[in-house]
Order: sequence, then C-alpha cells, then structure tokens
Amino acid sequence: MTYSAPRAPGEDWPLLAGAVMWDGVALMAADLAALVADKIRSGALPLPPEPPGRSFVGKGTVQRCDVCEQAITEDQLEYEVDVSDSRTLRFHDGCHHMWRQARV
Ligand SMILES: [Zn+2]
Repeated sequence: MTYSAPRAPGEDWPLLAGAVMWDGVALMAADLAALVADKIRSGALPLPPEPPGRSFVGKGTVQRCDVCEQAITEDQLEYEVDVSDSRTLRFHDGCHHMWRQARV
C-alpha cells in the first residue's frame, strides 16, 4: 500500500510514511484501513461520497475524529466533510485519506 500525505502549504509538517501519530503511538496504515472498514460496515461511518462532497481543511479544533475517535489538536490538520445536510464528519489528515480510499 502506498501512502502519500497531503501537506499544508508553507508548513513543514513531519509525517511518517504509512503511519499516523496517535497520542505518540504509530497507528499503522493497515490498522487504520481496517478500522475504517469496520466503521463503514457497522454504519458508524458512511461510504465516501462520489464525487467528493464539500470539504474543508484547517487547523484542528480539538473535536473528535470520526475514524480514530481521538481529538484533532491544534497542531494537526482537520478535514471536515459534509456528507448530508445534517452531518459533518471530521478527520485527521491520515484518517481522511484512509476513508477516501475505503471501498467495502
Ligand atoms: Zn483520526
């Protein structure tokens, strides 16, 4: 599996290839993909819309990520995706990447 992390412009933001830092623990991409698949199967997460819906990227606002359920802190990127009129999903950079790739 290849993993290419988007970078914020003008920011030197160190990211490990293939891993997401998670409270100091490297959560490997394979584990994250399995977590995403589980959540989609259980209905906790919708499938990523095609074409992609409205999404925003910004600094974390310490809200919970819809994949790993950890807070997205101010030094992390937060992806917000509107999946319906009433629901907005929030993700870490790496978690969003995995969700976008999810196919069940
Ligand atoms: Zn996350």
